[in-house]
Amino acid sequence: MSSSFLPRRTVLQGALVAAVTAFNPVSRSWASEVQSGSIPLPTLDGQLLLDDATRTQAADDYGHIISRKPWAVLVPGSVQDIVKMVRFARANCLRIAGARGVGDDDESHSTLGQAQVAAGIVIDMSGLSRIRSIGATSAWVDAGVRWIQLLTATVPQGKSPPTLTDYLELSIGGTLSVGGIGGQAFRSGLQVDNVLELEVVTGRGELVCCSPLLNPTLFNAVRGGLGQFGIIVGARVRLVSVPPQARTFTATYTSLPAFLADQKKLDDDGRFDYVEGSVVTAADGTRTFQLEAVKYFAPASPPNNAALLAGLAFVPGSAQTADSSYLDFVNRLAPLVAFLKAQGLWGLPHPWINMFVPQACAAEFVRFVLDNTPPAEIGQDPVLLYAFRPPKITAPFVRVPEGAHAFLFALLRTANPGTPQNVAALMAKNQLFLDRLNQLGGKAYPVSQGPRTPAEWREHFGVRWLEFASLKRVFDPDNVLTPGQGIFP
Ligand SMILES: Cc1cc2nc3c(=O)[nH]c(=O)nc-3n(C[C@H](O)[C@H](O)[C@H](O)COP(=O)(O)OP(=O)(O)OC[C@H]3O[C@@H](n4cnc5c(N)ncnc54)[C@H](O)[C@@H]3O)c2cc1C
Repeated sequence: MSSSFLPRRTVLQGALVAAVTAFNPVSRSWASEVQSGSIPLPTLDGQLLLDDATRTQAADDYGHIISRKPWAVLVPGSVQDIVKMVRFARANCLRIAGARGVGDDDESHSTLGQAQVAAGIVIDMSGLSRIRSIGATSAWVDAGVRWIQLLTATVPQGKSPPTLTDYLELSIGGTLSVGGIGGQAFRSGLQVDNVLELEVVTGRGELVCCSPLLNPTLFNAVRGGLGQFGIIVGARVRLVSVPPQARTFTATYTSLPAFLADQKKLDDDGRFDYVEGSVVTAADGTRTFQLEAVKYFAPASPPNNAALLAGLAFVPGSAQTADSSYLDFVNRLAPLVAFLKAQGLWGLPHPWINMFVPQACAAEFVRFVLDNTPPAEIGQDPVLLYAFRPPKITAPFVRVPEGAHAFLFALLRTANPGTPQNVAALMAKNQLFLDRLNQLGGKAYPVSQGPRTPAEWREHFGVRWLEFASLKRVFDPDNVLTPGQGIFP
């Protein structure tokens, strides 16, 4: 549990949790004693929080756009608590979903209520955040462990998960439920492609271990399964050896086709360990493209800068380098996030859009989006644009374009002012882009704006839809899990 949240909850526990012992399925309310018609609550190792402040926090997320208040928040004290509450929810027609955290400083990083549950139970996964063991090639963790927590433990041993998200405060269970992309994905695939075993509480309320060999159908369903088939409670995550230092190269491009071609080239020749890029908007509205490529190294054998930059078409003289420790590199967003929080910008609405764009139409589509995005609509917010390789992705329900290469293109908007009108206008613009992307064979990365209705999800999953829907009936037959995605409302 997050230390910032602990004291208030502890105070509340005695006052509220102890008083509630039953649920009345007819009046749909909690009761202080088991009366005729009410169902006793299971005995828990953790807490079921019913106070308004906690439920209000669980109705929020990083997006600050959608708000659905649950009836309760479970802070599990054990995996068995999740088993019991999923069974309880199933028996009483309640909905339930996992979330990275619940609290001002410990929130879900979804942007449109994907981890929220109206009239149901949110599981605050930060209650299960123990690193169970670290071995030579893998680590077993509770699903509520954050990536930074794991890295802080493994990097001193010279180990790291191969693919990391840019931001490391995300929960391992949360990113394994969506995909988990970063600048190493061109080489190692997504985070879902680097998990070796999972422990899952299915929508039937059964605790099941799964892997490519043991219960592979569940394993494949849950990786990138958007919380529809089970709550991930534990994961064995792949670790690789990493050198202690990282050299970051940045370089500017004025030509979009040249930038995209070099990204593809770097994915193919593998000279760097990490490749990302972004669109930069200058104060006068001029747009350029910035390559960000990183080579890990040991101090005794530093990288050869000239060899690494050879043959790339960036603007001559624009290349720069900076060295840091590996951990500081992968955790590079921490100072920026602290700054955004201090400025109050973290708490503004975030009508984000993350898109997977086919390589064949990348230049045309990026140009279309930029031509329709005046500088005032994106400000200094990051616009990510980098290549990855779809054939590296093994999780069937992570939908990406066909082809050897594709691009992540993300408009990470902050609505400022955060008025409903501004948010609505930016979301309408996002929808315009999504509609065009769909026509071109691209896919939304559903961590932000994307499919929201069953019909849109059916289109999103395409040839995988029938399999997705039939596995839902197998693993969550009463449709208990994760309604906030809008797939099976
Ligand atoms: C600042 C920031 C930076 C980001 N950077 C990246 C990035 O670089 N790469 C990238 O791929 N994504 C990135 N994301 C998106 C992120 O991966 C998603 O928001 C994702 O949902 C993980 O966030 P979370 O751990 O807060 O999970 P939540 O938002 O709490 O949950 C995500 C979904 O999974 C479900 N869920 C949560 N935990 C579990 C569980 N244990 N079992 C089953 N279902 C569960 C939830 O109900 C919800 O539907 C970023 C988001 C933010 C806000």
